[in-house]
Amino acid sequence: MSEALHWTAYYKEMEKNAPLKIYYPICGGGEECIFVCPYADSIWEVVPMEVSLFGVRHKVRLRPFMANPEACKKCYLCVQACPTGALRPAEEEIKRPALVLLYNALRLPFKKRYGLKFVFRKEHGEKFKRNNWPERYGVV
Ligand code: SF4
Repeated sequence: MSEALHWTAYYKEMEKNAPLKIYYPICGGGEECIFVCPYADSIWEVVPMEVSLFGVRHKVRLRPFMANPEACKKCYLCVQACPTGALRPAEEEIKRPALVLLYNALRLPFKKRYGLKFVFRKEHGEKFKRNNWPERYGVV
């Protein structure tokens, strides 16, 4: 699966018709968004793409992508659950991604819902490892 597209291809695809956007360079790949989405199976896919992890080392990683955005009910649970601020409503711009990441990391201990305890759940840790080092798991 060495023909993974650059993350901007998926970003642009979601820009066309999805109610959400994902700024992939600050997405951690823990799949918290997919975990909380009530319609995850009909909306989300996890796809290989060329992207860095928090701006470090660009390579093929697995990341969430809205394959069927028309099934989204715009409840924004996934946006609330995103620990990094990478996922947000389509109309919200990300002007300074590094600051967005820092802000969201600092507020994580104070979030009542989807805070540190949620992010460090075993299943998210496993997704984080698999999605950031997929070659070790034989996934790419
Ligand atoms: S907004 Fe709600 S329905 Fe849409 S992808 Fe997020 S969690 Fe799922």
